[in-house]
Order: sequence, then C-alpha cells, then structure tokens
Amino acid sequence: MALATSTATSPAASTEQHFHRWRIDEPNGQLSIGTCKTCGATKEFKNWLSDGDFITNEEHRIAAAA
Ligand SMILES: [Zn+2]
Repeated sequence: MALATSTATSPAASTEQHFHRWRIDEPNGQLSIGTCKTCGATKEFKNWLSDGDFITNEEHRIAAAA
C-alpha cells in the first residue's frame, strides 16, 4: 500500500467544530482579515464603523435607555 503514511501527527481533527479564536489584523480598508489561532482559517470582517460613526458602549447604553 502506498498510502501507508501516518497522519496521526497532524492535529487537524478540530477544524470543523470548535470556537474559532479569531485574531483580527489591522483594518485594511473596509475589511479586516481574521485568522483563527486554532485552525488557521481566515475570514473577512467588515469594518462597518465609518468615520464619525464610532459609538462607545456607554453611548449605546444611554441611547438604549432613552
Ligand atoms: Zn478555527
């Protein structure tokens, strides 16, 4: 058998079901690229906060209570 090479040393078992630990790179235009620290998957995150549209958590709370 030519396919006898063992893959037991590869920790690739948990690429499907795990909580991706996204590490977000610095924003690049409207997108930020997140890389999962666990499986190495990448995902694009949209930077929906445009200039002048930054809302802090506290402002959120005030707006919700109004
Ligand atoms: Zn992952």
